[in-house]
Amino acid sequence: MIGVRGDGLAESTTIMTKPGLGTPSRPLRVAVIGSGPSGFYAVEALFKVGDLVVRCDVFDRLPTPYGLVRGGVAPDHQKIKSVTRIYDKIAAHPGFRFLGNVKLGRDLQVEDLAAHYDQIVYAVGNESARELGIPGEDLEGVCSATEFVFWYNGHPDYRECEFDLSRTRRVAVVGNGNVAMDVCRVLIQDPERLAETDIADHALDVLRNSAVREVVLLGRRGPAQAAFSPKEIKEVAELEGVDLEIDPESVELDDVTKAWLAGGAAPKSAEKNLAFLAEVAVRGPGSNERKVHSRFLVSPVELVGEGGRLTRVRLQRNEIFAARDGTPRPRGLDDTFDEEVQMLFTAIGYRGIPIPGVPFDAEWGLIPNDEGRVLTARGGSIVPGQYVVGWAKRGPSGLIGTNSPDSKATVEKMVEDLRGQTADPLPEDEAERILTLLRGRGVDVVSFADWQRLDAFEQERGKALGRVRQKLVEIDAMLGAIRG
Ligand code: NAP
Repeated sequence: MIGVRGDGLAESTTIMTKPGLGTPSRPLRVAVIGSGPSGFYAVEALFKVGDLVVRCDVFDRLPTPYGLVRGGVAPDHQKIKSVTRIYDKIAAHPGFRFLGNVKLGRDLQVEDLAAHYDQIVYAVGNESARELGIPGEDLEGVCSATEFVFWYNGHPDYRECEFDLSRTRRVAVVGNGNVAMDVCRVLIQDPERLAETDIADHALDVLRNSAVREVVLLGRRGPAQAAFSPKEIKEVAELEGVDLEIDPESVELDDVTKAWLAGGAAPKSAEKNLAFLAEVAVRGPGSNERKVHSRFLVSPVELVGEGGRLTRVRLQRNEIFAARDGTPRPRGLDDTFDEEVQMLFTAIGYRGIPIPGVPFDAEWGLIPNDEGRVLTARGGSIVPGQYVVGWAKRGPSGLIGTNSPDSKATVEKMVEDLRGQTADPLPEDEAERILTLLRGRGVDVVSFADWQRLDAFEQERGKALGRVRQKLVEIDAMLGAIRG
């Protein structure tokens, strides 16, 4: 669909008759796949490009927008969720349309998009979890934090997951990132503190019957290398009725870490985390029944069970060594010990999943790209008109706001690629055509106004119960609320 102007006279003569792409007489049509933060920031950046005239259709496989803001951010972090107000403003732009309940690869193929749009932006995030790759990972009681997070947030695909917390007193959480902090807080705090939030009903029921009283956080490197934000670990320490316990020896620094900190290569959070963890370590054990133990320099090497169910995690002690660039990395020592736990959550990072027709780098778990331009493979050639933003572009890193400059950078490439492009004017009914195609395939497309109806419905239901919102967790129920 994209007409590229060449240097030849014959071509440029033809082009004279065609309007420029992205002008009032030939608006640019962009399909954005995924309505999470990176998708919305890409749309915002497109709307802000000088005199570019652009129409953005934002697709989501769910009837609900906002990606991880709805399905990932913890229910006790309502303030973070208020970022959706910014997305609602973007959605109010006349060039914006939401096409929810449409799944790429199922309801729509890449070829359909190429036929209806000038540019495609993949904002699909990372939907699956990294695995530890150690014996025993298939035992009952071993779960991924990714699934747990989607489950407690009421993601329709995960509502059937089962987490038997009623027989679990001690839980291990592998990883020292912010997801590990979220999972830890949800597991250990008094569930009544979550009752007013938008946590899924099924999760609140399970948490109310939970026997969990201890969470053991397992970091493979030291406290200075913890990936959590200072605010997040502080929040765990400040949970009412919960003690955070840290062995004072574990916050003593090794020489590699000292040099790393002195060299200025460490993130800003490192010193803050260290200072706080050292302060907690000297407090000693508290008197609360609910406890979080933070262990550093340990890696799970085996998960041990009885009768198919997890009973212990075998941990290997690590030491820190300096990688070539000086980065402190963990190295296993000949020293293992066991922690008794009945459940273990892996919170060691997300991973992308392949989408039919879209290039995928299976090793890195993302869409291969060069600064946001999709490539056929890592180091391969550019796929014209296709772009990527967010976690699908750079991997699962950064906070919600990190996606704004990241999406903007991809949009700059999109605009660069538009230079000198012309195209035939669009037929009158052009905007309707994609809807006609989808309806013809029996897809019940959800518009932004539909979503706003569902949003109001969920909030009203919640209000009646003294909650922020009561989420619907089944797609049919969502569509019923919208249409009914
Ligand atoms: P993350 O920040 O990358 O943390 C992953 C953790 O898992 C790290 O501590 C990492 O250790 C560890 N790890 C990785 N592979 C491991 C292995 N094989 N064995 C043991 N440990 C392993 O990822 P995340 O927690 O999933 O978070 C993803 C992104 O979302 C992050 O940028 C995070 O800040 C953001 N997020 C933010 C919030 C918030 O602001 N409240 C909430 C949730 C998520 P190494 O450092 O040694 O690799």
